Amino acid sequence: MYGKMKDFLAQELKSIEEAGLYKRERTITSPQQAEITVKDKGKILNFCANNYLGLSDNPRLIETAKKAMDDRGFGMSSVRFICGKQDIHEELEKAISDYFKTEDTILYAACFDANGGVFEPLMGLEDAIISDSLNHASIIDGVRLNRAKRYRYANADMKELEECLQKAQEQRFRIIVTDGVFSMDGNVAPMDKICDLAEKYDALVMVDECHSAGVVGKTGHGVSELFNTYGRVDIYTGTLGKAFGGGIGGFTTGRKEIIDLLRQRSRPYLFSNSIPPAIVGASIEMFKMLKESNELHDKLVRNVEYFRTKMMDAGFDIKPTQSAICAVMLYDAKLSQNFASRMQDEGIFVTGFYYPVVPKDQARIRVQLSARHEIEHLDKAIAAFIKVGKELKVLK
Ligand SMILES: *Cc1c(COP(=O)(O)O)cnc(C)c1O
Repeated sequence: MYGKMKDFLAQELKSIEEAGLYKRERTITSPQQAEITVKDKGKILNFCANNYLGLSDNPRLIETAKKAMDDRGFGMSSVRFICGKQDIHEELEKAISDYFKTEDTILYAACFDANGGVFEPLMGLEDAIISDSLNHASIIDGVRLNRAKRYRYANADMKELEECLQKAQEQRFRIIVTDGVFSMDGNVAPMDKICDLAEKYDALVMVDECHSAGVVGKTGHGVSELFNTYGRVDIYTGTLGKAFGGGIGGFTTGRKEIIDLLRQRSRPYLFSNSIPPAIVGASIEMFKMLKESNELHDKLVRNVEYFRTKMMDAGFDIKPTQSAICAVMLYDAKLSQNFASRMQDEGIFVTGFYYPVVPKDQARIRVQLSARHEIEHLDKAIAAFIKVGKELKVLK
C-alpha cells in the first residue's frame, strides 16, 4: 500500500532538495564543547551550539549525573499523576522557582512541550493570545492548539502591540506572549514596555526564556533581571537544553494557581514521561553552581564583547545584540551559504541563514558565543572571518 505514497514523498523530498532547503546533519563524535570532532572532517571550532555557559561537558555535572543514576536509577517509566515523581524532581522545580523568583514550577520533557501545553488549559474561546511575529515554532504550535482569538504584532513593535491590546479588550482574558531573546537577531524583547502595556490594558505576560535565561541580565538570570520586571511577568517557559547544561528538559514557572492548573490539565505533562534522574540530579547541581559563582556568565559576557568589537573593527556589519547571539549580516542568500562553507574549510563551524528563516535580503551568518570559548578560539574565528570576508569581497 505504501507504493503511491512513497512516490509522492520522493517527489516532495526532491523539491526540497531543488529549492536548496534540504537539511543535512553533521555527525559529531566528541562531546559538545568549544572544539568538536566531526565524522570524516576532523576537529572544528563550534560557534553554532546553544552551549552558552559551556556546561555541556562540565565534569561536575557529568559526575552528579552518574551519581543520580546510581541513586535513583536510569528511567522513570511513568507519568507523574499515575506513578508519582521522585524527590529530586520536586527539588529541581524548587531550584528553578528560586532562580526565576517565581512561586512554582512544572517540569516537561522539553520546552517545546512546555509551550505546547501552556495555552490550552488557561485560555478559551472568549480569550485572546497576543503573540510576537518572531516567536518560536513551539509557541506558534501551542497557540494553534487553542481556540482563543489570536493577534500578532511585528517583532518587538510596541505600537502594534498596543493596537492589538486595544482590539482585544472585547475578550475576557488577554495574554501577551514573547520570546525573551529572538534567535535570529539576538535582540531582547522590551519586557519593561511590554509589562507597562499589559498593566494598562489588563493582560497577562508570558516570556519564553530559552535563549535569554543564563545569558541576559547582570548575573544572567534572564529578562526580569535585565529589565527588573520581577513580579510583573506571570509565566516564564524555558529549557534545560541550552545554557542550563544542554541535556534535555523544559519547564514553565510562574504564578502558583497557573502552575497548579497546568499539573491538572496540561496534556504534554499528563501524557508524557518524566525526565530521567541523571538529568534531574545534574540540573539541581547546575543551579547550585550558578548560585556559587557568576564566573561562567561573566566569561560569556566578556567573550561576546570581545568578538563583537573585533568583528566591527574589522568592518563587518553586526546586528546590535544584547545576548550571546551575534548576526554577521551578509544580506545575500548565496553569499551566506558560500561564506559558511568556506568558514568550515577554515575550521570554524558557523551556519548561514537565509529566506525563509530570516526575511528576504537579510541573509546572515549566525554566531553563538559560549563561556567554553577561550580567547584563542575567538581569535581564530575572527581571523577566519577576515580571511573569508576579503576573499568573498565582503571586506575591502
Ligand atoms: C530551543 C527553543 C525551544 C525549544 O526548547 P527544547 O527544550 O529544546 O524543546 C522553545 N522556545 C525557544 C524560544 C527556543 O529557542
